[in-house]
Amino acid sequence: MTDTMDIKITKTKHSRLNETDFSNLPFGKHFTDHMFVADYVDGAWKNFEIVPYGEIGLSPAISALHYGQAFFEGLKAYKHADGKVTVFRPDKNAARFNKSAERLCMPELPEEIFIQSIAALVDVERDWIPTAPNHSLYIRPFMFASDPFLGVAASTTYKYIVLTCPVGPYFSKTLRVKIENQYTRAAEGGFGYAKAAGNYGGAMLPAKKAVDEGFDQLIWTDAKEHKYVEEMGAANVMFVLDGKLITPSLDLQTILDGVTRNTVITLAKDWGYPVEERRVSVAEIVEGAKNGKLTDAFGAGTAATIAPVGSISYEGEEYFLSDPKTREFSQKVLNTLDAIRYGRAEDPHGWNYVVQSAE
Ligand SMILES: *Cc1c(COP(=O)(O)O)cnc(C)c1O
Repeated sequence: MTDTMDIKITKTKHSRLNETDFSNLPFGKHFTDHMFVADYVDGAWKNFEIVPYGEIGLSPAISALHYGQAFFEGLKAYKHADGKVTVFRPDKNAARFNKSAERLCMPELPEEIFIQSIAALVDVERDWIPTAPNHSLYIRPFMFASDPFLGVAASTTYKYIVLTCPVGPYFSKTLRVKIENQYTRAAEGGFGYAKAAGNYGGAMLPAKKAVDEGFDQLIWTDAKEHKYVEEMGAANVMFVLDGKLITPSLDLQTILDGVTRNTVITLAKDWGYPVEERRVSVAEIVEGAKNGKLTDAFGAGTAATIAPVGSISYEGEEYFLSDPKTREFSQKVLNTLDAIRYGRAEDPHGWNYVVQSAE
C-alpha cells in the first residue's frame, strides 16, 4: 500500500532528539521531531505529509472547538532487542477510529491510510523509540472538523494528524480508586464507546474531585442507577472474582472497546481461564473485597498498560486488596504481554505489526 499512498516527507533541520532526557519521560510531554498530517476536502483524503512537529494555523470558528467534532486514538510502537520495530494491533485501532468517526458524523478514514500513516511516521522516528523496560513510543492519531463555520452542523472539511511521544510507565504506583456514585461519564444511546474529545472534557471535574479526596482514579458506574461498574479513567476495568476474570460487557455501548481489554480476554481464554463479560455490580465487587474473593483488580489500557488497583473505596469505606506482586493473574498477563510486545515471546495471534524500513 505504501506504493499507492504517496506521502511527502519534509525532515526537520534541527532534531530535538539529543536534547530529550530519556530517563525522564512524563506521559505526552515530549514530542518527536515530526508529525503526519492529511486533509479531508471535497469528499476525499488528500495531502499526505510528514512535516516537522509544530503549530498549525486554524480558523477560530472550527466546529471541533465549539461543538466537539473531534476524537482520537492511542497505540504504541515497541523496539525489540534486535532493532525490529512493531506497532501493537493497529488494525483494532483503525476499526475503532472509524466507529468514533461514524458516531460523530465525521468521514471514515480507510484502514490502509491509518496504518500506513502510522508506519511511515514511526519509521521516520525509529531513533526516538525508547528501549528501557516499560518504555515505548506512544502514537496519537486524531481527527477534527476544520470548516470555519459557526453553524451547528457537521463540517465538510477535516484534518487527520498523527503525533508521537516517547513514554515511560503512565502509572508508577498501585492505584487508590473510588467508585463514583454521583457523576456519569456516558449513558445508553450516547457516545461512551467513541474516543470522542468531549467524553474526556466531561470527566475532568469528577476526576479532579477524586484526586482532591486523595484518590488516583475513579471507577465510573452506569448512568441510570450507579449500581454497575463501567470503566476507569482512560482504561477498562477488570477483576478476578471467585477465580474468574470478569469485566463489564460492551453491550450497552457506554464503554470503550479497549484493545488491551480484548487482548487480556484473549490471553485468558488461551490459558483456559474462565472469563465473564457481563454487567458487573458494585455490590459484588464490594462483597468480594470484603470476603477476600476479589483476588485481583486492574485497569487495562494502552497508556495505563495493566495498572493494579490497590484499594477500592465506596461510600466512604476503603477496601484493600492484596499486594499486586503476589497476584497471579495480572502478573502473568503483564509478563506475557510485555514478552510479546518486545519480541521476547511468540506472537501466536499476529498482534505485532512490523514497521518496514524505507531505507
Ligand atoms: C482508550 C481508552 C480505553 C482503553 O483502550 P485501549 O485500546 O486498551 O487503549 C478504555 N477506556 C477509555 C475511556 C479510553 O479512552
